[in-house]
Amino acid sequence: MRTMGFGRDDMEKTEAVIPRAEEPKTAVISLVRVHFEDAAHELTYFNDRFDLKPGDRVFVSGKRAGEVGIVNAVSTKFRIKASDYERVIALAQTPIRGTYKPVADKMISYDSNALSPEGFCTWVMPPDEPTEDDEIICGDGYEIPLDDPHSAEGVDKAVFGRALNYCGSGRIGYVAVKDGVGRAYVEGERWYELEFCIRDNAIKEAYCDCPYPGLCKHLLAVAVTLSVMSDHGDLDLSRDFVLIDADRFFEMIKRNGQTITL
Ligand SMILES: [Zn+2]
Repeated sequence: MRTMGFGRDDMEKTEAVIPRAEEPKTAVISLVRVHFEDAAHELTYFNDRFDLKPGDRVFVSGKRAGEVGIVNAVSTKFRIKASDYERVIALAQTPIRGTYKPVADKMISYDSNALSPEGFCTWVMPPDEPTEDDEIICGDGYEIPLDDPHSAEGVDKAVFGRALNYCGSGRIGYVAVKDGVGRAYVEGERWYELEFCIRDNAIKEAYCDCPYPGLCKHLLAVAVTLSVMSDHGDLDLSRDFVLIDADRFFEMIKRNGQTITL
């Protein structure tokens, strides 16, 4: 185990702490115009939590909650009645750290400080609503052998075909495995969160939060991606790794204003 320069008590705590997005810089109160992908025109939101700039990716309250919006314009010269406006509630800005290697259409890192699932999540999903009290109930989860994902129990041929179309399409946004426990984010109609374990060269106890009532294309697409990359010697499944879609990786770097050394 690596020591991290913490005392023993601190270290125990540190291991359990999930890294959070960095706190935003001082907020600059503003009125911002936000564009949503399928919307005919921009919508205006009040912001008192972030220092927003055009191009920022944000989540808002109101009827567009849960959708990623892009800030198009920021105004600090305004006078409004706050109750007339919905608000900006989250800003995607988690910085990317670590060393990544480009492989095919993905960026791979084996660094322990590479972008965490929680960090990636801020880019594609709004923060959990504290009012959410739905009970989560799990069955056994799916199992997919990585030497032959097609042979998994419950594979539907048409669904498998759609999964293959997902591979290489940029929809597999993020996959990370740490100590045999995996998390992935796949873009379908919206972004879906997948959880699984990797053991004995198979994906086990796998779940996706999409509504499909069977082994879904998202789980199969992740399995096929890992299987193919491992077969080609591009990915070492015996190590902890983070894999990010390359286009999304560079978009995040750009939006963060970060520079990278290749
Ligand atoms: Zn799914």
